[in-house]
Amino acid sequence: MRIFDSHAHYDDRRFSDEFPGGYRAALEQSLRAGVCGIVNIGSSMKTSLSSVRLAEEYGFVHAAVGIHPCDSQYVTLKELDKQLTEIESLASHEKVKAIGEIGLDYHYDDTDRERQFYALSAQLDIARRTGLPVVIHSRDAMADTIDMVFSNPGIKGVLHSYSGSAEDVPRLAKAGWYFSFSGPVTYKNAHRPRLAAGAVPEDRIMAETDAPYLPPVPHRGEINFSAYMEFTLSAIAEARGTDPERAAEITLENALSFYGIGEDTLHG
Ligand SMILES: [Zn+2]
Repeated sequence: MRIFDSHAHYDDRRFSDEFPGGYRAALEQSLRAGVCGIVNIGSSMKTSLSSVRLAEEYGFVHAAVGIHPCDSQYVTLKELDKQLTEIESLASHEKVKAIGEIGLDYHYDDTDRERQFYALSAQLDIARRTGLPVVIHSRDAMADTIDMVFSNPGIKGVLHSYSGSAEDVPRLAKAGWYFSFSGPVTYKNAHRPRLAAGAVPEDRIMAETDAPYLPPVPHRGEINFSAYMEFTLSAIAEARGTDPERAAEITLENALSFYGIGEDTLHG
């Protein structure tokens, strides 16, 4: 089984602080578990730079660069504009395959929606100018996220760790969007993501860890990493009435086509 993890954060401190052997050991164990490609996702200027460094270190790792909605609101506007310029120049690096993760996050009480919209729309413009797809983070903000999709025709994007409804899938897919599923599809009471995973057209579904976050059952409470993808793929397969091998194959093919990654970069 060849597995592609379309969204991970191996530069996260939890790998150096808590994972025995750090991120290198996590990547090696993942390769032994059948993982052949990973996209490491930036969420700030610092993590965008470290994602690129990681992609330079490993041929099978690719990078996305962008400013997360939460990160966009704790800096001055001047500093944010400076970072956005840096993100755009980083985007021309050959291992950068997407702008992300960017989006909307209304989870916290101090959410500055105006600022989040500003950062999102500036980064959609970067995606337009560079021709790169976008990786969208959306938490407690699905209605505004869907509005964003339909007011930006021509943008190619993935709704990462999709938490929307199955009912919204057909029109988002028709608009050209992709859907990615992570650990929560394995949770006992998570009917919503399972229904959605079953509703996504075969050429639009991807799988991810969001490592070190969102570990699947039976690893909840641990650091998540790509070797645990098999549990998420099994749950996706079950939701779609297929087998894990097929789920691994289609999510791999879709990730390669979405990110524009060549087969020749895959490990093994
Ligand atoms: Zn993420």
